[in-house]
Amino acid sequence: MEDCIFCKIISGEIPSYTIYEDDDTLAFLDINPNNRGHTLVIPKKHGEKITDLDDNDVAAVFRTVKKVVNGLQAVIGPEGFNLVINHGEVAGQVIHHFHCHIVPRNTGDGIEYKYDGTTPSQEEFQELAGEVAKHIV
Ligand code: 5GP
Ligand code: ZN
Repeated sequence: MEDCIFCKIISGEIPSYTIYEDDDTLAFLDINPNNRGHTLVIPKKHGEKITDLDDNDVAAVFRTVKKVVNGLQAVIGPEGFNLVINHGEVAGQVIHHFHCHIVPRNTGDGIEYKYDGTTPSQEEFQELAGEVAKHIV
């Protein structure tokens, strides 16, 4: 897509440090890493949200995520990873081409992703799960 930085990386117009590439996906190092080895995995077909991708590309992205995690584990050997998808501007999505962040993590690395929440009542859980379940196709 015109003016999309990640589409330009796919076409080679903008250079990147490629880790893996196949027909459907590309994995490359993030230019501004949160931690050493921070990698982005993208579908080659432009789409902003997971709901804009076809099912094959969704599956292909996560197959590539698995390969990259294995590669980073072998080379960097972190204690864990954050697999992060910022989905929509409100959630921190800056580049409007779907991507999964793979961020190697170690104890004391200072990175913080906060997930503080409150626990709803059983009724609220049940009603919400039921309502959403009706819309799964
Ligand atoms: P978002 O906030 O959209 O989830 O993350 C976008 C990510 O893309 C950021 O982590 C940023 O560092 C990375 N990024 C932005 N421009 C470029 C670029 O030209 N090359 C690479 N390799 N990464 C980029
Ligand atoms: Zn794009």
